[in-house]
Amino acid sequence: MTSASRPVRTPVRTRFAPSPTGYLHIGGARTALFSWAFARRHGGTFILRIEDTDVARSTPAAVQAILDGMQWLGLEHDEGPFYQMQRMDRYKEVIGQMLAAGTAYHCYLSPEELDRLREAQRERGEKPRYDGRWRPEAGKVLPQPPAGVQPVVRFRNPAEGVVSWDDLVKGRIEIANAEMDDFIIARADGTPTYNFCVVVDDWDMGITHVIRGDDHVNNTPRQINVLQALGAEVPLYAHLSMILGDDGSKLSKRHGAVSVMQYDEEGYLPEAVINYLARLGWSHGDDEIFDRRQFVEWFDLDHITPSAAQFNTEKLNWLNAQYIKKADDAFLAAEVASRLARREVNPETGPSLEAVVALYKDRVANLNELADAAELFVADVHPAPEVVGQHLTDVAKAALASLRGRLAAAEWNRAALSQAIKDTMAEHGLKMPQVAIPLRVAVLGVPQTPAIDAVLEVLGRGRVLERLDRRL
Ligand code: GLU
Repeated sequence: MTSASRPVRTPVRTRFAPSPTGYLHIGGARTALFSWAFARRHGGTFILRIEDTDVARSTPAAVQAILDGMQWLGLEHDEGPFYQMQRMDRYKEVIGQMLAAGTAYHCYLSPEELDRLREAQRERGEKPRYDGRWRPEAGKVLPQPPAGVQPVVRFRNPAEGVVSWDDLVKGRIEIANAEMDDFIIARADGTPTYNFCVVVDDWDMGITHVIRGDDHVNNTPRQINVLQALGAEVPLYAHLSMILGDDGSKLSKRHGAVSVMQYDEEGYLPEAVINYLARLGWSHGDDEIFDRRQFVEWFDLDHITPSAAQFNTEKLNWLNAQYIKKADDAFLAAEVASRLARREVNPETGPSLEAVVALYKDRVANLNELADAAELFVADVHPAPEVVGQHLTDVAKAALASLRGRLAAAEWNRAALSQAIKDTMAEHGLKMPQVAIPLRVAVLGVPQTPAIDAVLEVLGRGRVLERLDRRL
């Protein structure tokens, strides 16, 4: 289907509605990104709603983790965050209206009776369901409400017909109303249930497009029926398929970084993660690398794949490396500085971090590797004893000693430094690696670095001589 084929209901209003029972994970972040991008694409409004009615499992820490994750990803909301727990009065008001309108009713069946009913149905080989005994019908005489029992409130689901929607990802979905029983919208203590709160919120918030995980497909027919009973306009639904792990199984904690903030810790750039998530179940031809602005320009719901997307850590790492390579040196230097600070390494004692990151940014996979490299320039170098033993042989030390003399007097630029190394090779009858590798070990503690003359130039004369002296 081409993007022109579906009219978009405008002005677009989308929402991301996480339950704060855990971190913002990759699946949630992808849902948030698509909702955000769709609103941005159409000049619409993106709403953040915290679905915190599961008080036993919701925590303030999880709310904060979600807000942090959204901020890190740069997914700014235009309205909210709204908290469902702060909207209880509103839900109760709508329940009152539905009771008055007859689209909902009190049911006095106790949980024990309901269990017995279901048990009996199962024994008869029937699907367990509420039997509608308190559902008002024309000409039906209802039982006397038992004394002292607080009733639940049930939605009066239409008895006939089908509920259907054209899912923007999955296509047409139809469910016969006869398949659905009258679900509870308020518990005996008066608290509204999850499916009901979502409906009232989507209605009040004027949501035009519900973009969410397909674990909610089963809730949709119920939600549509309630919306219709309220006379509300039914939003369009786009149910995103789930994300599988690298190994094809369900994405879980086993797959390492589950919280978005863990990607920060592991040295990923948010821009790389956004780019990666954008391609997770959506495509624009063969384009792999595109920034957020480009994504917003291209994003549509027609190119979301209905099948499950598979997470690919290698691809994410590759993208991250691409983003680091083209990032600005000053930006990378600031990122590295804060990572060094967390390691209690003070970058001020070292050479220019901008110069260091420029040397390394096309050879690292993440910001932590960049910080590891920078740390070698800033902190004291302690090469491992076996590295010293292997590379700082007597022959190598003799060459480094004469090189030290040349470096003390050399002009401090790459050409002159390179000449000093060549002169030392000639004097001692050595090949390039026989001087360059011990030199790397002496000044940075590792045998592999970018071009050694460039490393020396960035490190600076004082540090180079001091480090050589310590090793010789
Ligand atoms: N709170 C639900 C969740 O975190 C999302 C509900 C919805 O998007 O309708 O899975």
